[in-house]
Amino acid sequence: MKIWLIESPIMMARQQGVGDVKGTVKRVLLQLTSAEGVTGWGEAAPWEVFTGTAEAAYAALDIYLREVAIGWPLSNIRGAMAAMDRRMVGHGEAKLAVETAMFDILGKRSDLSVAELLGGRVRERIPLSFSIADPDFEADMRRMEEMVPAGNTIFKVKTGVKPHATDMDHLSRMRARFGDTIDLRLDYNQALQPFGALRVLRDVAAFAPTFIEQPVPRDALRALAEFRTALGVPILADESCFDAHDLMELIRLGAADAISVKLMKAGGLLKAQGLLAIAATARIPGYGGTLWEGGIALAAGTQFIAAMPNMSLGCEFYMPHHVLTEDVLEQRIPNQAGHVIVPQGPGLGISVTEQSVRDNARVLATA
Ligand SMILES: [Mg+2]
Repeated sequence: MKIWLIESPIMMARQQGVGDVKGTVKRVLLQLTSAEGVTGWGEAAPWEVFTGTAEAAYAALDIYLREVAIGWPLSNIRGAMAAMDRRMVGHGEAKLAVETAMFDILGKRSDLSVAELLGGRVRERIPLSFSIADPDFEADMRRMEEMVPAGNTIFKVKTGVKPHATDMDHLSRMRARFGDTIDLRLDYNQALQPFGALRVLRDVAAFAPTFIEQPVPRDALRALAEFRTALGVPILADESCFDAHDLMELIRLGAADAISVKLMKAGGLLKAQGLLAIAATARIPGYGGTLWEGGIALAAGTQFIAAMPNMSLGCEFYMPHHVLTEDVLEQRIPNQAGHVIVPQGPGLGISVTEQSVRDNARVLATA
């Protein structure tokens, strides 16, 4: 077992209201090799303003989870997750990295993809959403001029960062230029306070967004429920929905039409499957969100969405092709005509080597 703390350069600044990112992002990679010599990879990509830090994930794996992971039978991944939960609280991203690497090995050993191990492939391609979050809106408009003709139709605007009038101007320019050909979504990243939010949201609702994501702070569930009834626009919960317990509460209060599912929030593929079982029962569709994840984590997310019928709102796995200037995979997961193509190969369906990691990221530490 080898743990890597790495840093990757990114090619565009991202302004999202919290934790604006420019320059580089840090992540942790986990390389697990079975007794017979099959290597699997996992990734922990916390974001310090959202779930935690890469350094903490690195320490969690090195000091606490290593002893659980080493020698654990691949025939009992669920048991490994329970054992890691007993060993330490939280640190879901680090536990996810172990689980992902175990599934990767199991898949390679059995010649099945992780999606097949999770129950089967229900889709071969996933609609891709691109986030409009560049501090320079004109740069995003130029990107859209290239992306829309190439088949990208889903765009999620990070609203609430700039003044409301600016948001309104940008939204009207996007609709004026691209009309109804684009599937427009809004994400406030908790930027509004419940007091006064409804007036702001009524304004932006005029642009017919497919959903409005997390307009208010994560604990303001009653406000989310009010917006649902007042606006007639679907409300998607992201920060308000980390795990199955959060979702139960959202359902109880009638506070969400849809949820953003991130493996880093859920802390595991199996845990996210449990979350989706509840969502499907409540007829709440899922959307594949991300943090600052690289190719390994997004491969896990791609396999997960491929296996889950209720993950029907697409994904925002645009990092490897549009933001990371380099990625640790030998080959990126292909995007075609605005879709992520689910890989066919066994395990995660990707190829990673120590060399491809060293060639494409700055290695800050290994253990
Ligand atoms: Mg979000």
